[in-house]
Amino acid sequence: MSAGLLARAGFDVLLLEAGGPDNDVLCSGLLNPEAQAALGVRPPAHVLREPIVPLLQYHDRDNHLRLEYDPHYVNTSRPAFDAWLREEAQAQGVHIAYETRAQRISHGEHGITLATSAGELRCGILLDCTGWRALSRKQSARRPAPQVHAFQGTVKADLPPQSMWAVFDSALTDYYAWIVPKGAGRFLLGAGYPQASAVTREQAEDPWNKLTRMLDYLGGLGYSVELEDAKPLGSPITTPTDMRQLWWGERGVIPVGEASGMVSPSSGDGISYCLQGGIAIAGALTQFRGELGGPVSPELQRRIIRRYLQGMAPALSELRFNILKARTAADPELRNLAVRLLPLFLRRPVRRLDWNRPLPQGA
Ligand SMILES: Cc1cc2nc3c(=O)[nH]c(=O)nc-3n(C[C@H](O)[C@H](O)[C@H](O)COP(=O)(O)OP(=O)(O)OC[C@H]3O[C@@H](n4cnc5c(N)ncnc54)[C@H](O)[C@@H]3O)c2cc1C
Repeated sequence: MSAGLLARAGFDVLLLEAGGPDNDVLCSGLLNPEAQAALGVRPPAHVLREPIVPLLQYHDRDNHLRLEYDPHYVNTSRPAFDAWLREEAQAQGVHIAYETRAQRISHGEHGITLATSAGELRCGILLDCTGWRALSRKQSARRPAPQVHAFQGTVKADLPPQSMWAVFDSALTDYYAWIVPKGAGRFLLGAGYPQASAVTREQAEDPWNKLTRMLDYLGGLGYSVELEDAKPLGSPITTPTDMRQLWWGERGVIPVGEASGMVSPSSGDGISYCLQGGIAIAGALTQFRGELGGPVSPELQRRIIRRYLQGMAPALSELRFNILKARTAADPELRNLAVRLLPLFLRRPVRRLDWNRPLPQGA
């Protein structure tokens, strides 16, 4: 997002991507309302997946509570979404170097030097968009941001095609588990766990073992599930527990998106924050354009970051609220109290389903 906007503002922008044009970031591909607003346009048909606007069923196994509502999400294929964004950026003048990994950032009298798998590059400003890997943070004195370890794989199931579930179950994890429909009877099944959690260890013999409790839950509700992937894939998700854990870089290096730590710890949504961050940093750099060129002084860095964070004020206050939501959701009793406020908070109908007789989605 920032790349295209910066190119349009006249910056010479090079985007490095460690993967190829079909790079696949582990993700469920759901765009929340904030992500849709930041995009400003609906992604083209080839990026969307059925059901395009799924309903959400909230399952609380601790409190025997099932609710259903429309979260106003849009369902996409994440690799197709990323490829479409890169095509849009290229059309606006961004250069893309695929299969090129950024390896080490250093600073000299002429600005920033970046060692990559394809040789050294020089630049005045370096936007660190490396996601959970957060290259610039790793090179800094900052502690790593907290993360949960997510696992997700594709299953075929006779669930109603609309089924999108968020399952809270403290016997499985303090985070949550999910089902996301992708059309033609296929669903993503996943869960996030504390790092090095016992349930995720020694799984070589049976990699799906970490999702057994979810598979049993589906079986108990009468659904049959066929595992399509040989194993669920794993990836960290950054889960800030305090706003002070966010990282805003130094000396012309500026993290955007998950590299700055911005991911909702309550839902795992991160796309909205990287899109909003992209727009905000493009605005900030455009404002200070006349002062860029050589090494960025600490004073200029402060001014750029101040303007960047001003542009992200709504996203930052939403993240602050989501940190509170995540703390509440991790405690079954608090969660049970807080969920009663959901219709007020969402300002839209929330349907209560019978715990003992689950209705099909949307019925
Ligand atoms: C299982 C799972 C499901 C999720 N589902 C959702 C969802 O439905 N909706 C949602 O909003 N969020 C979801 N998220 C979170 C979301 O995927 C991330 O927060 C979001 O992708 C962050 O975007 P980003 O651009 O900051 O980083 P990323 O999307 O991680 O992009 C980083 C890019 O940089 C490349 N890269 C990394 N290191 C280097 C390097 N050194 N050199 C060059 N290139 C590099 C990577 O290949 C990648 O393409 C999910 C996460 C997980 C793990």
